[in-house]
Amino acid sequence: MSSEAPYGDYEAVIGLEIHVQLQTKSKVFCNSSAEFGGHDNENICPVCTGMPGALPSLNEKALEYSVKTGLALGCDIRKRSVFARKQYFYPDLPKGYQISQFDLPLCEKGAVEFVLNGEKKRVGITRAHMEEDAGKSTHHGEYSLINLNRAGVPLLEVVSEPDMRSAAEAAEYARSMQKIVRYLGVCDGNLEEGSMRADCNVSIRKRGATKLGTKVEIKNINSFRFIEKAIDYEIQRQIDCVETGEPIYQETRLYDPDKNRTFTMRSKEEAHDYRYFPDPDLLPIELDDSYIEKMKRQLPELPLARANRFIQDYKLPEYDAFVLTQERDLADYFEQVAKASGNPKAASNWIMTDLLRELNESKKDVTSSPISADYLGRMIAMIDAGTISGKIAKTVFAEMWASGDEPEKIVKEKGLTQITDTAAIEKIIDGILAANPNEVEQYRAGKEKLFGFFVGQAMKATKGQASPEIVNGLLKTKLKP
Ligand code: ADP
Ligand code: MG
Repeated sequence: MSSEAPYGDYEAVIGLEIHVQLQTKSKVFCNSSAEFGGHDNENICPVCTGMPGALPSLNEKALEYSVKTGLALGCDIRKRSVFARKQYFYPDLPKGYQISQFDLPLCEKGAVEFVLNGEKKRVGITRAHMEEDAGKSTHHGEYSLINLNRAGVPLLEVVSEPDMRSAAEAAEYARSMQKIVRYLGVCDGNLEEGSMRADCNVSIRKRGATKLGTKVEIKNINSFRFIEKAIDYEIQRQIDCVETGEPIYQETRLYDPDKNRTFTMRSKEEAHDYRYFPDPDLLPIELDDSYIEKMKRQLPELPLARANRFIQDYKLPEYDAFVLTQERDLADYFEQVAKASGNPKAASNWIMTDLLRELNESKKDVTSSPISADYLGRMIAMIDAGTISGKIAKTVFAEMWASGDEPEKIVKEKGLTQITDTAAIEKIIDGILAANPNEVEQYRAGKEKLFGFFVGQAMKATKGQASPEIVNGLLKTKLKP
């Protein structure tokens, strides 16, 4: 699908609200454990269950993670931001209000940049504010149960500008957000487990129109693929509404992945009045320049900057650079292999094909790869030095994967060193030519395809260890009519 005009006469307008669950040890306003799982209502206390008189106090780590994320998103960090009560009634919200931020959020005016199908994209960030998560209710026919373990877990809600124009762009924006929070180590970014949750706002308008259309919000989508499919479905649904003269209501919808469609969750959003007001139990957050500077200094190199550096410094193609910077650990691994081998492009090839294949098949993380970056780098250096052939390297790689041994040891013990003794190879080739007079005759008569046959025979006779260059050179000379 072209990213130019994917929806015919219509233009889609998309803005995302992404909730990032910050992986602190304790909750945002109390000491209860913020850990996922555990028995129902195991990690609760008077503060996160909203007991009368219990007083919240801010978790410094949650603030630090929020400031770092804001900085990574290029936001201005407000030196004075304020917590506000957002009132609504729902069983999973024990206080009757959620502590959030309203008119004075911690972070404002940033942007996320990424590349989609070779095109640079920039999505503005309106704001990012701190808030607490709610509990979780489950419904069992006659009754419902409430588990407050999640109540009070710190969240950073990142609100984008309505800057995206296709479902693919929205999914890529969400992926970029995941990469950023993972690089920062503030969130595991796991959509399936709900540690990153995206609400997608979608509207359409006639191409060229400047006024925004009525937006529909799609909630609780738990994978990037479904974000893309849900938005694409929703855009088409809205186009069909306009074409058939049906109104589009401002509403909240849910996505059903089995049927690949969205359906109404709350019709005609009642104009919510959350009656926000500053939380009198919490002091405003006051930050000085030195704190913000300190947080800035602690930021790692971010994925996009790192990809660009890989392109510049290692002369990698854009594709390689993006694959290798998907995860911080993978990018670290690549840099070590590049250093140990002195051959960045070969390092990239071995990682992107052989290593990632093995890791995927065995569902392993690069940090638990049986082949260390140093070993892979040394193996590549052995190819470049002519010690082993590229073909034999595949065997060495498989052996390193299975045993975790050093490449030099494997090559030595298995006798895999490349044969570069021209005289020895010549002897073998002479034998092959003598044993196959018909093929030699046919080749000389013009059947050049047979060249591969002779190379194959020579490799077979040397168990793949003959230097391919020497084999080719000798065969060319000897087969001349
Ligand atoms: P609300 O008050 O309903 O939460 P906001 O103005 O806060 O609405 O916007 C919420 C999200 O919806 C933001 O990410 C914003 O970019 C996006 N958004 C706002 N208007 C539109 C629109 N007409 N079409 C698509 N997205 C929109
Ligand atoms: Mg909103």
